[in-house]
Parts: sequence; C-alpha cells; structure tokens
Amino acid sequence: MSTDQSPAPFSQFPGLGQQASITHAVTTRFGPAFGKIGTDQATADAAALTAELLSMDGTAWVHQVHGDTILRVSASGIAGQADGLITDTPGLLIAGRSADCPIILVAGQRADGSSVVGVAHASWRSTVQSITTQLVQRLVGEMEASPPSLHGAIAPSAGPCCYEVGAAVRDEAIEKLGPVAQEFFSPHNDRWIFDLWAANTFQLQEAGVPASQVENSRICTICQGGAFWSWRDQGEEAGRFAGVIGINLTGCKVAQSR
Ligand SMILES: [Zn+2]
Repeated sequence: MSTDQSPAPFSQFPGLGQQASITHAVTTRFGPAFGKIGTDQATADAAALTAELLSMDGTAWVHQVHGDTILRVSASGIAGQADGLITDTPGLLIAGRSADCPIILVAGQRADGSSVVGVAHASWRSTVQSITTQLVQRLVGEMEASPPSLHGAIAPSAGPCCYEVGAAVRDEAIEKLGPVAQEFFSPHNDRWIFDLWAANTFQLQEAGVPASQVENSRICTICQGGAFWSWRDQGEEAGRFAGVIGINLTGCKVAQSR
C-alpha cells in the first residue's frame, strides 16, 4: 500500500489493484472528507465525490452501528443501519467509514467471470460478532463467488502496536468467538492488546479467502496515521476516511459481450 509521504487523496492495495474488473481505494485525510456519522451531509458529499473521482456511478454506505448486519445493495445512497455491504452491481462503490476501525474489502468472481464485492466495518464489537466471516460467507453462499477467486484486504486501522483494551473486551471476544480468540490478545500492563488485524485475517481465511490473497496495509492509524484519521489519537477532532470497493462498468460490458 502506498504510504503517507505525499498528500494523495487515495491509497490502494497492490493485489486488489491488479484485479482488472475491480475499483477500490482507501481515502486519506487529503481525500474526500467523510462525516462522523452515516447520516451526515458530509458523508453524502464525500461519497458522491469519491465515486466521481474514481469514475464510478455512485456510492452506497450505511450508518454504522458496531453490529453484524450486512446489507445487499444495488443503488447508491445510505442503505440503512448496518456494518457491512455486498453488491454485484457494476458502477456502484460500497463504502465503510473509519477512524481506527479496520475496514475490510473483499472481491471475488463467479464461475461465469462476473464479479462480486463486499465491505465491512470491523470495529472490535463487529469483529467479535464475526462480521468478516459473515461477509465472506455471504459473498460465497448468496452471491456465488468462487472461494479460490477471493481477495481480501485490511485497511489502515488500529494496530497491535497500540490497540489497548480492557479485560471485558477480551472476555466478550472469547465468549463469542471461542478459545481461538485468546490468540488475538496479549497482556499489556494491566490491560490487553487486541490484534484486530490477526482476528480479521483469521476470519477472512476461515471463511475461504486463500491466505496468499489476504492483504494487510499494516499501517496503524494510531501511531503511523499521518494520512489516516484516528479517533484514539485525535479524539473528537478526528474526521473519517473510507475504504471503498466496486465493480467496473467496463468489466461488466466485457463479460456481457461474451
Ligand atoms: Zn500503532
């Protein structure tokens, strides 16, 4: 992933960037300024600007509530209260907003060569509700993506260098995810480090994304977040950036002409 050395409006993952039918980006602090909540006019304006800058028709987003609801969408605009979106509509970007929470982007292909994409806002609460596992399961089960075709990416977010939580978070993770969750925590002073990157990498792979096709920017928004907003670092001053993914219109036309 490109670094924060220059004020570029977008950063991208090398592997996802090689998918000819897919457009994706993680906006930076120098790109479209998303609002703090999904219903902000700023979020609507930034969603429209992002689509325009990436030559897409529009962007769908949600009012994020730290749950595990994933909505299937085919039109731009706010889709409701949820923390994940899936689509097979060419020209439509789907967006997750963040200031520390991992945004997970997934792309896959069906047997006929058409594409499907998904995005999840994997906050710690959504992560312990297995939102990333469920996102991939929806893409495979409902949208008929072939597992070997799946690519997953973890956007800049709170890293294991910094993301400290209390014991109650660890307890809840182990209760909901089972003993495997112990691997995602390490003791730190009187508290715990929650490795959200490891937890979401596990969920991507557990649900079928090949390990070699999981990308992690490994940029911590808290301590390396020059280009990305951080709630833990900037508090109320923090804006929101977004991870977006969509299916190219041209890719669709090529597929239809076969
Ligand atoms: Zn850090």
